[in-house]
Amino acid sequence: MGIKIYMNGKWVDKEEAKISVFDHGLLYGDGVFEGIRSYDCLVFKLKEHIDRLYESAHTLMLEIPLRKEEMEQAVLETLKANRLRDAYIRVVVTRGEGDLGLDPRKCKKPNIFIIADKIVLYPEKYYREGLEIITVPTQRNIPEALNPQIKSLNYLNNILAKIEAINCGVEEAIMLNSFGYVAECTGDNIFMIKNRLIITPPPYAGILKGITRAAVMELAEKAGFEVKETIFTRHELYNADECFLTGTAAEIIPVVKIDSRVIGEGKPGEITLSLMRKFKELTKSAGVRYSL
Ligand code: PMP
Repeated sequence: MGIKIYMNGKWVDKEEAKISVFDHGLLYGDGVFEGIRSYDCLVFKLKEHIDRLYESAHTLMLEIPLRKEEMEQAVLETLKANRLRDAYIRVVVTRGEGDLGLDPRKCKKPNIFIIADKIVLYPEKYYREGLEIITVPTQRNIPEALNPQIKSLNYLNNILAKIEAINCGVEEAIMLNSFGYVAECTGDNIFMIKNRLIITPPPYAGILKGITRAAVMELAEKAGFEVKETIFTRHELYNADECFLTGTAAEIIPVVKIDSRVIGEGKPGEITLSLMRKFKELTKSAGVRYSL
């Protein structure tokens, strides 16, 4: 049996889940999305993801024809329909079908679809040994042009950076902002640790305010660490004691080499490892429960 996709209020087979070639989500990247995880029948930070989805849509003046509670319910029902205990959930709202011009007023009805599937995890090796990443030439979008806080279907900025990383044989890229400060990675936020102080770039550095980022900041503070949102350069990053990335898909992933510079001892740091353990516990204990 194939997977069931939520499509505008109905659950259909994957083969029938289709979008028009006139949908502006496809023609222009005009739409918004979220990536959400469930762990053993607990959806992690569901409300936060739905809030962010609606905020992204609000800025784009894209009116989602569902109340937030209905959207949450649709996510839970999609998990049930697919009998998934552990899943990666993708919620997408497109501007809908229009004509070939940009004008969003031509798109009368947004399309909503939700895909819940098994999680494709990064190889275990990266969590054990740490990741090598590089800085790439493509800068993060400047907020004055396209604010990275809008989680839109237009991800070309990130894709260009990802291609540059892959071309250099690494999995992730550090993107700088237009001032040359470290912003974030292509699909993850970045943290550095120096003298037990945990530092991450602030939203004004031009980043997506990650939900995992917020959860990790809270965990770290609860564990007694000082956490600071401040801008930093590559020089400071190269000389950090520890570095890690956060994201819904990656969770917390240690970084041990950046632009060929070894970070700290060249292996996942002690604080990073303790935060990884705490994060794992959190995903097992907090979330919106559903039953299969
Ligand atoms: N930055 C970017 C550009 C992203 O696409 C993501 C993944 N959604 C993140 C950071 C991490 O955000 P979150 O923890 O909410 O998944």
